[in-house]
Amino acid sequence: MTASSAHRLFAEQALLPTGWSENVAISIDQAGSIVAVEAGQLATPEDERLCGPVVPTMTNLHSHAFQRAMAGLAEVAGTGDDSFWTWREEMYRTVGLVDPDDVEAIGAKLYVEMLKGGFGRVVEFHYLHHQLDGTPYADPAEMSLRILRAAQTSGIGLTHLPVFYARANFGGAAPKAGQRPFLHDPDRFLALLDRLSPACEAAGATLGYAIHSLRAATPEEMGVILESSPVTGPIHIHVAEQPREVKDCLAWSGQRPVEWLLDNMPVDERWCAIHATHMTPGETRRLAHSGAVAGLCPATEANLGDGIFPAVDYLAAGGRFGVGTDSHVATSVAEELRLLEYGQRLRDRRRNRLAASGASVGRTIFDAALAGGARAAGAGEPGIHVGGKADLVVLDGANPYIAAAGGNQILDRWLFALGGDTVRDVMVAGEWKIRNGRHDREEDIDRAFARVLNKLK
Ligand SMILES: [Zn+2]
Repeated sequence: MTASSAHRLFAEQALLPTGWSENVAISIDQAGSIVAVEAGQLATPEDERLCGPVVPTMTNLHSHAFQRAMAGLAEVAGTGDDSFWTWREEMYRTVGLVDPDDVEAIGAKLYVEMLKGGFGRVVEFHYLHHQLDGTPYADPAEMSLRILRAAQTSGIGLTHLPVFYARANFGGAAPKAGQRPFLHDPDRFLALLDRLSPACEAAGATLGYAIHSLRAATPEEMGVILESSPVTGPIHIHVAEQPREVKDCLAWSGQRPVEWLLDNMPVDERWCAIHATHMTPGETRRLAHSGAVAGLCPATEANLGDGIFPAVDYLAAGGRFGVGTDSHVATSVAEELRLLEYGQRLRDRRRNRLAASGASVGRTIFDAALAGGARAAGAGEPGIHVGGKADLVVLDGANPYIAAAGGNQILDRWLFALGGDTVRDVMVAGEWKIRNGRHDREEDIDRAFARVLNKLK
């Protein structure tokens, strides 16, 4: 197909890889790929005129979809010191109540919410595999297939990461009863990946995998999976989220979690270290130099009281990062990026921590998270460019703050000062999924989701 026969969008302002441009025509072929991007154009009557400035969709690099159903239900103070570990008990209660239909309904609702928040792709870190007593479903991939269907219903792009989980703590501790729905041995896990490879291909999803954490697998188990898996997609792992994990890792190995990971696993650009909250300055530099992406989830990390990622030092060392919504107490690009910057400000009692002198903070962290997120998802080069997929967010040009803004002010207004309704339209792979703030299957998706919420009350 030639550019002249392609569908052409016209935007008065667009954020391109070269920066903000005006009067931009974006031509898209029937496969949803961008075949031309031209600035300084005049709109033609055939063009589809966009109703505000255009930016690329962001990757949400860390999600446990089912946890969206319990977001807001763990906010009642307990009798002792509430922590990540008491929250985890509430999460295990939710695991015990949801079946495959529920997981699909929660996923579809969550993914629509993510689209509305400006995300065009989600990386699903999927560990809820089996029935409550640990018995696999008739198809051991049942829960993964429901995630694939939820993504297709919503239209969000998906990178699916089945999670290997076998242990309760360092040193190969036997798993607890509440962990039975998560468990595999390496052979069964490799068989799951084999089963999912064609399913993901048919669904247009990217397949990678995850090791839940250093607590959840022995070095031998991790070695078998890394050596034997034919999957070439991304590898993710939770690491150093909690001080107790650091203490337990030191007791087990004499090393801290990030230090152990970098010394014992082939960590490179294929890897994403989720959280990496608790690092020494030396670990921070080493992780930055490894080429891995740090997967930051600022709203969840704040909600769980995890701590503050050393982002200033990590970026100074050239580190890459992206953002994820993890437990989904927030579901938007703006909330995650805002909290990322604010955590640094609160710790340092200073402003504008993550941008160089004179640079826009919004633009700096948006660009960095866009690149890191795409890498962590095993997706292609992000952004609005020829050869890429048309994954676009149209911000609401009728919003007076957006209407009066130009260039990087648009990002700074959106990310730091405006609400969730700033995203007007979202296109994924050339198809509009959100139009004027609505998804066309929203009523059915909401109805199915409401049934799940009533069950969890
Ligand atoms: Zn997580």
